Amino acid sequence: MPQVVGIDLGTTNSLVAYMDGKTPRAIPDENGQVALPSIVAFLKEGPQKTLTGEQAKARLMTHPKETVYSVKRFMGKGREDLEADLQHLPFVFLGKGKEGVQIQIGDQQHSPPEISAHILSALKARAEKALNTSVTQAVITVPAYFNDSQRQATKDAGKLAGLEVLRILNEPTAASLAYGLQKEKKGIIAVYDLGGGTFDISILKINNGIFQVLSTNGDTHLGGDDFDQKLVQLIRKEILEKYKVEIQDFPETMQEARLASEKVKCALSSEESVDITLTLPDKKTQYIRRVSRSEFEKLITPLISRTIDSCTQALADAKLTPTDVNEVVLVGGSIRVPLFKETVGDFFQRQPHSELNPDEVVALGAAVQAQILSGAITDMLLLDVTPLSLGIETMGGVVSRLIQRNATIPTTAKETYSTQVDGQRSVSIHVVQGERELVEDCRSLAKFNLTGIDPMPAGMPRIEVTFLIDANGILNVTAKDLKSGKETTVEVKPTYGLSDADAEKMISASMEHAKEDLEKRQWIESKNEAETVLHHTEKALAQGASLLDDAEKEKIEKAIAELKNAISSEMHKAVREKLTALDQATQRFAADLMSQSVQEALQNKKLKDL
Ligand code: AMP
Repeated sequence: MPQVVGIDLGTTNSLVAYMDGKTPRAIPDENGQVALPSIVAFLKEGPQKTLTGEQAKARLMTHPKETVYSVKRFMGKGREDLEADLQHLPFVFLGKGKEGVQIQIGDQQHSPPEISAHILSALKARAEKALNTSVTQAVITVPAYFNDSQRQATKDAGKLAGLEVLRILNEPTAASLAYGLQKEKKGIIAVYDLGGGTFDISILKINNGIFQVLSTNGDTHLGGDDFDQKLVQLIRKEILEKYKVEIQDFPETMQEARLASEKVKCALSSEESVDITLTLPDKKTQYIRRVSRSEFEKLITPLISRTIDSCTQALADAKLTPTDVNEVVLVGGSIRVPLFKETVGDFFQRQPHSELNPDEVVALGAAVQAQILSGAITDMLLLDVTPLSLGIETMGGVVSRLIQRNATIPTTAKETYSTQVDGQRSVSIHVVQGERELVEDCRSLAKFNLTGIDPMPAGMPRIEVTFLIDANGILNVTAKDLKSGKETTVEVKPTYGLSDADAEKMISASMEHAKEDLEKRQWIESKNEAETVLHHTEKALAQGASLLDDAEKEKIEKAIAELKNAISSEMHKAVREKLTALDQATQRFAADLMSQSVQEALQNKKLKDL
């Protein structure tokens, strides 16, 4: 029988797991290794084009420009988002600004999903061999903070590897499943996940077997790789001072320094001090230096503090305090650094769970989820949340929000809009993400047109826009003309990614600018409404002039003139007052004399225009 597997596609290592009856198990390779280094080496010669895992890792030093590591950092990202990383990386990135990056290797270009697909293919082949069956379906995990484009890139990687991705699952949610914490009747769990490249803290709530993510926080640029970098920089500085050699100019030596630093870091988790050795670019001089655990801890203390700040923020978002948390789960290879267990335990004032192998927990949970989706486990449901609000642009560049930040997914929302111009046959739908009132302050996710609208007076067509976020966090937007039945759907693939730091910035900016944003929004909305009402009233006056007596006509014309004056004064309150006055002046006229269609048009003015 084909097997559904769970895959942890990690920054440093990737794993595949399956359900052996009721027990999730990680699948080892022929050498008994469960972790496949997330590294892909591109070969210039020979029938085989790529190597993955340990074989690729062995080429990091000899072929740094053709060997890609940490590709997860580039998934769904543009060059603009990667500026900070570029100086540490030996490969060439192509692509401008926000468009998805490509990595130049030799004379070929490869996208991050293509490179990740090599890792997934290797895991697929490993599972097929070990289980002696075909593997075509998988659950793949991603950090909780991955946005739509990063999730989509991960899904694409699965497809390229010949896998149907049944679900993109948040890593902390997977970890809770691996610990079987669904058996708790009620409670709050904090999942602290510090891997090679990313940090996530998630606050989950369990209620009768149902998980709900209350809040998430983290940093897509914080992990064990950064600890390695701290040691690399220490070595680099000392070598520069002592030998006057800048090893940063020698990619091979830098790679060697990185690997040596990682080894020393891991050894310091169990030993009090360790020697670090490095051969200088002259291939003769040996640099040797003893590093103590306390020296290393001092180097990484600012990084630990950043993770605790994230924990505080996640708890605040969930309106909880550290003592409200019943269980703390530690995930990721880096939590083996003893200082983390201590610091996290102190913060939450309880002993964290670390019984399971922290490298395997996420893959094991993904296997549990795979079994749930295959129908074998039915008593669990997983809920996640959206990190930022989603909406569309309406007239004047104002955001109409359909899905609020921290909404539980899967979720759906619907809103009806109308047109601005008579006889309009198409509308442009601009999907945006963010917390601000104006489109210019939000992230643009996608733009598309709905065509084939039946021509009608402005404000008459009814365009229904539906947002659907599926269980993988992928957003589908549908616009439908309710009269003609014409509809267009797009699956949103943003052109570039969004780091959690950006997301945080967007949230705090919305708080800072709340008052002025609201004022701007109120002004634009009043002006839009006033212009629409003026348009309809003037049209109605022209059509029904013979049905008005002079006094009433004069009254309406005066109200129109006053409303126009108020618009030019750019005063929101004055426009509101004059709108009410015009409404009163036209009430009888609108009710008694206008044609059904004009009445409808006036009523329709309440729909926002696209
Ligand atoms: P992950 O992304 O969860 O696979 O975590 C990988 C990270 O864990 C890498 O940065 C490793 O260097 C780190 N790691 C693995 N073992 C240890 C250890 N014994 N002590 C400290 N860090 C470790």
